[in-house]
Amino acid sequence: MEIISNNQDLAIEIENLVDFFAPADDFCLTHEEKQESGKLTNVFNIKCASLNIDKNFEFDNQFKDNLDALKSKSIKKRLVKVNLYDAISSLLNKTLPWGSLTGIRPTKLARDMVESGEIKEHLIAETLEKDFRVSKDKAKLTAHIIKNQKGIIRNDSVIDLYINIPICPSRCLYCSFISNEFDRVKDKIETYIDCLIKELNAVRQIINQKPYVVRNIYIGGGTPSVLSAQQLDRLLSEINFSVDEFTVECGRADTITEEKLDVLKKHKVSRISINPQTFNESTLKRIGRKHKNSQVLEAYSLALEKGFVVNMDFIAGLPGERFATFKKTLATALELYPENITIHTLSIKNGGLLKFDTSGIYEKDVVKMIDYAEKLLPENGYKPYYLYRQKHQLQGLENVGYYRDDNICVFNIDSMEETNTVIAIGAGAMSKRVFNIEHRIERLPNPKFIDDYIARVDEMIAKKNEFFK
Ligand code: SF4
Repeated sequence: MEIISNNQDLAIEIENLVDFFAPADDFCLTHEEKQESGKLTNVFNIKCASLNIDKNFEFDNQFKDNLDALKSKSIKKRLVKVNLYDAISSLLNKTLPWGSLTGIRPTKLARDMVESGEIKEHLIAETLEKDFRVSKDKAKLTAHIIKNQKGIIRNDSVIDLYINIPICPSRCLYCSFISNEFDRVKDKIETYIDCLIKELNAVRQIINQKPYVVRNIYIGGGTPSVLSAQQLDRLLSEINFSVDEFTVECGRADTITEEKLDVLKKHKVSRISINPQTFNESTLKRIGRKHKNSQVLEAYSLALEKGFVVNMDFIAGLPGERFATFKKTLATALELYPENITIHTLSIKNGGLLKFDTSGIYEKDVVKMIDYAEKLLPENGYKPYYLYRQKHQLQGLENVGYYRDDNICVFNIDSMEETNTVIAIGAGAMSKRVFNIEHRIERLPNPKFIDDYIARVDEMIAKKNEFFK
């Protein structure tokens, strides 16, 4: 695929949009942007020998020249993308569920438009359909999510704390995270916890000096429950913040024991996730997850007994699965009735092993799976409350988090909508400082690999002190 544009700022956006249409390898697009007072013209030439295409398109847009630089840049970007969407959509006779939107967070875009006064909240769905070519169903879903999101606050002194444990019992076929297999790093775990505690103590000083109020804590990964009960106890004993919400990801059921859940309870963890991904055991084997359904059921019943709020993740489009298998998985999920269910669309990422063998992926069934989930879950008392998209997701679809009975995970909203500052600890963790008044976000990444993090923890502490000064 070849993309040439005279506006280099837009080349990546254009490429992402073309990618969602997934045209042939020999697809070649030339874009020229011309701007005269009050008029923005986008000219495209699209060539593709294998699809027998060679066509020019020209779009004239009315454009107010006197907007501030930031606003005019973002409006021009929107216009280029929607013009390009119309061109490719007419050429290939194909529409995309999210229209011309290529970003990770469609809800954030809609929220920003409402908060900046550009549109009223009741016009979200209509605007997404009309101005961004989003399908009716996805536009309505976005509007519902914004309505269902509660607990969003814009206060620069209220923050979240995130701790990363990038270790898993085995590697999933579709994983592109830098997560380490337990057996390869088990000898380094105690040192890693030492460093986490060191960073945590430094962060406590930053929090006390500012002063920040920690609202939510989230320990993610990876699979934090891969740590032993003693290791979890050692780490959690050092946290000592009284918070509204404390979540620990326990994604793999085969890592959950009663002893570990008792440790989490002792340290006031309120929510955990147990992620079956599917209830089809032959798929589990195929994707490299070692747990059995019986282990999910045992872990879930223990979690209920101990009084945790539970999230379960599922993936639509796993290799080997047709619609009927996914439907069966969701029926079992509804029998279990956890407080939160998250439905992901499979993403074939560059860093995942799945990329090398995509046989057995029934891409056409995925649209049906996601449509089914988005209808079935609300019919059973679940409401959508956060949404995000990833690159290379099948059919350009999305991931949606659902809750029932007010059991929203506020941290998920905070991180998707980027409304709160997050102090993040550990290898691969990304701290984010949100300046709500200036509409600005700054980011500070920690080193991605465990060895590197251990070697550079003092440097990271110094950088954090500077970053949160
Ligand atoms: S559990 Fe998550 S982080 Fe771990 S290997 Fe699987 S996809 Fe990657």
